[in-house]
Amino acid sequence: SYRKGGYHAVRTGDQFAGGRYIAQGKLGWGQFSTVWLAYDTQNSKYVALKIQKSAAEFAQAALHEIELLSAIAKGDTSDDKFVVRLIDHFKHAGPNGQHLCMVLEFLGDSLLRLIKFNRYKRMELNKVREICKCILTGLDYLHREVGILHTDLKPENILLISTIDPSKDPIRSGQTPILERPEGSQNGGSTMNIIEKKLKRRAKRAVAKISERRASMGGVELTKAARTLDGIDMRCKLVDFGNACWADKPFAEEIQTRQYRAPEVILQSGYSSCVDMWSFACTAFELATGDMLFAPKPGQGFSEDEDHLALMMELLGKMPRKIAIGGAQSKDYFDRHGDLKRIRRLKYWSLDRLLVDKYKFSEVDAREFAEFLCPLFDFVPEKRPTAQQSLQHPWLNPTTSTQTETEKKPNVERVDVGMSKLQIRVGK
Ligand code: ATP
Ligand code: MG
Ligand code: MG
Repeated sequence: SYRKGGYHAVRTGDQFAGGRYIAQGKLGWGQFSTVWLAYDTQNSKYVALKIQKSAAEFAQAALHEIELLSAIAKGDTSDDKFVVRLIDHFKHAGPNGQHLCMVLEFLGDSLLRLIKFNRYKRMELNKVREICKCILTGLDYLHREVGILHTDLKPENILLISTIDPSKDPIRSGQTPILERPEGSQNGGSTMNIIEKKLKRRAKRAVAKISERRASMGGVELTKAARTLDGIDMRCKLVDFGNACWADKPFAEEIQTRQYRAPEVILQSGYSSCVDMWSFACTAFELATGDMLFAPKPGQGFSEDEDHLALMMELLGKMPRKIAIGGAQSKDYFDRHGDLKRIRRLKYWSLDRLLVDKYKFSEVDAREFAEFLCPLFDFVPEKRPTAQQSLQHPWLNPTTSTQTETEKKPNVERVDVGMSKLQIRVGK
């Protein structure tokens, strides 16, 4: 992909925007860009530099992302909305073409990495609560104030907040920035390889060291030392607005990453901010259990979409007929009664039994968490609570007194309900 129209090759020490930003080491990459840790010499702080591929379609996408990120930054002057901040943007000419570059605030690891480092084990519910509050605050801001749908909410697109104070001198915060390329390394020749190699090693160390500091300071359980840090505020921000859209101008038909995709998107019934609430609920479940809630696979005689719809109904109950048959794709999957055409026998389960039986939640924890999640999984999009409403839910705001009360009280009536279809309707 490092060819005309593709990525821009970067070396540590490379300068951008007339020398203001200096590349330190690679942070990550995606289908559209490579992202580098860079040093902002004007403000003496680290930033993330997203360098887009140069071909027209990527430039177009970057312009769209910049437009949305600018609107997002404009309304977030006090930086308390838990959404990544766009600091600057510019064009950079290279051998592969003109690259649009976005300068973003430097954030920490993604929640996906956090889940992996946790070895897909459950995360403490108090931490899940803190993360959920950040995500919902971000979504509430996007939906109500900016008028934007994220449309690709998932653990990979939620980054932990770096706790290195960017206003502090980076030297004191643990890492001296690389400010220039050493003599000789630009021009090739025999000394180049040695210097280049040294510089590469140094860049790798710098990124590793900064990431590790970030991790341990954020209370993230990435290192052994960090595991002892308990009760630290876990905070995060929403990133990757490459697929986001204005709420009144939805353009793509197929949105969202498969596992986080809402039923109305599969059925092509039109969509709204409610799709982000569905993905949010999938993400919250994944954080709390370490597993994806819906991981559909195509099978003999049915497609991935159909498996996905079946998995949803097995957990949430039958889809209301009106909803099932109301989409442009409905005829492919449902008969006129609203039953799946090719997957006939569903194995009903329920969210709170799943949490107890498979993930060993206590009865109380399972019931309370399911009461928070189930309304978000309503098949009728408009019935899902909004981000603003979800922020008010008791699960996010537990008071010590009610907690001890429910813990003392044995939860007799729920114990033997089992997997009856009635119980699946909980929360509706
Ligand atoms: P995608 O294919 O996911 O759309 P993309 O090319 O749009 O990719 P991003 O997802 O924005 O790129 O970024 C790629 C990676 O760079 C992220 O997964 C993350 O690891 C890293 N990254 C992005 N933004 C930041 C940031 N602000 N701070 C730190 N790391 C970042
Ligand atoms: Mg991404
Ligand atoms: Mg993207």
